[in-house]
Amino acid sequence: MKPSFIPHSDYQAFILHHLRTSYGPGVILINKDWPLAVKLWMADLSAITTLLRDEYSDQGPEPRDPASLFRSYLILLMSNPTMGVTEWVNELKRTPIYAILSGFSPDDLPGVGTFYDFFGRLWPAVDKNLRPILQRKRKGRKKGKKGEKAPTTTPGRVERLVKWMMRHADNQTALPADRLFHFFQSQIVAVSAQFGLLGDLSAISAAGDGTPVVTSAYPRSKPTCDCRARGIADCNHHRLYSQPDCSSGWDSARERYFNGYHLYMISAADSKHDLPLYPRLHPASRHDAVSLVMSTVEFKQRFTLGAVDKMLLDAAHDAESIYLLLEHQGMEPFIDLNVRSKKNITSTTASDIQISPTGIPICPNGNPMKPNGTDYKLHRRKWRCTPACGCSTAKYGRTFYTKTKDDPRLFTKTPRDSEKWKLTYKRRSSIERSNKREKIDYKLESGRHRSTMMWYMRMYGIMIGQHLDAWYASQKDAWDMLKSHICPAIA
Ligand SMILES: [Zn+2]
Ligand SMILES: [Zn+2]
Repeated sequence: MKPSFIPHSDYQAFILHHLRTSYGPGVILINKDWPLAVKLWMADLSAITTLLRDEYSDQGPEPRDPASLFRSYLILLMSNPTMGVTEWVNELKRTPIYAILSGFSPDDLPGVGTFYDFFGRLWPAVDKNLRPILQRKRKGRKKGKKGEKAPTTTPGRVERLVKWMMRHADNQTALPADRLFHFFQSQIVAVSAQFGLLGDLSAISAAGDGTPVVTSAYPRSKPTCDCRARGIADCNHHRLYSQPDCSSGWDSARERYFNGYHLYMISAADSKHDLPLYPRLHPASRHDAVSLVMSTVEFKQRFTLGAVDKMLLDAAHDAESIYLLLEHQGMEPFIDLNVRSKKNITSTTASDIQISPTGIPICPNGNPMKPNGTDYKLHRRKWRCTPACGCSTAKYGRTFYTKTKDDPRLFTKTPRDSEKWKLTYKRRSSIERSNKREKIDYKLESGRHRSTMMWYMRMYGIMIGQHLDAWYASQKDAWDMLKSHICPAIA
């Protein structure tokens, strides 16, 4: 049978009924659980039943309420993020309040298989991983430097990818995680937007950054041949990988290699709650710059709640093609300079003017010129050298203009030394706080999953938790006032 739609108000009535009347043995709402109860009370997940309707057959017994299963998984992540689903099913038996908040009667609980069956319906692909489990042996690890993110990539690789992406940006390819994103965007992020938690919807600042997600200490693979037994050490036959979407990467914060994913996250930078908007799991070996290119194009194709007009990135993303891509997408790049060379370059517009590695014009006498106003409409900046320098016979000294279109990386639309740049760029650390929250508070890496499907499930569950936390934090006073009304006998 198809699942029947249960309106959120029915769930709320179920909770009220249980909290008010069933203070029988074991059903206690302690103070600590109050925020959890409020978050679930506010979160209307009922649309998931409609979203998944086609995934259920007409025959057979009536399935469990999809919204309650999803809610229960969220409670797992918000209350016991190191638990697996098997343990969680036992926890629901031990702690009836979790069962009730999920929307289940404590004497009628779902089994582990029911949860996994439900997760499968949220993933519209036959394979639970993106890449095939049969792969040829991977190349060895590349060495990383201390403090460096992933092993650096060549600018040429980023440039080729950007060109390809710009040609293909109009044809959106469906991804298996789209169903989760669609639910997340329409039911969760949309509410955060209404609460004003994403900042100004007509000019959203987004920030992007990657972070390692360790899934296991070593990559696990089995041979499909018997070459080793026959004395052939290095054959090129396929191997069976248990986590085909993972690879080895360099974790600069922990200063060691790891096996897993490179999580690239885009968040709302003006939100003081550091709210995540789009997650993308890449193989661990992928560089930030490459991950950004793929993630930002996918994000731009899918995000419909507002206009993202700024993208804030750290110096690992400082490649000229990324500026072009972001401009092409209608976003102004705010990227920290990664000064690789100490040499000045000759200006393309005046042969006697040099440009310093940080984008400051140097006059023919070798003096740095002084900024003399910015034309924000023409994206042009005026520079001047004093008559005292002697490099020009003009009455007010030599003038020179730098234009964004001549070098979008050095001559940014908003000058890097301006107050506006500083104020905007300051918010970039929001993405780091958001990523930390997922890894430290929500114990992202404690998931013991093999499939990319389950890692996305965990990822989206945690992101929903972050949004619910922000809803509660921003409405806390109003909700706490209702505490005694909703739940007179709170322990
Ligand atoms: Zn072999
Ligand atoms: Zn001069």
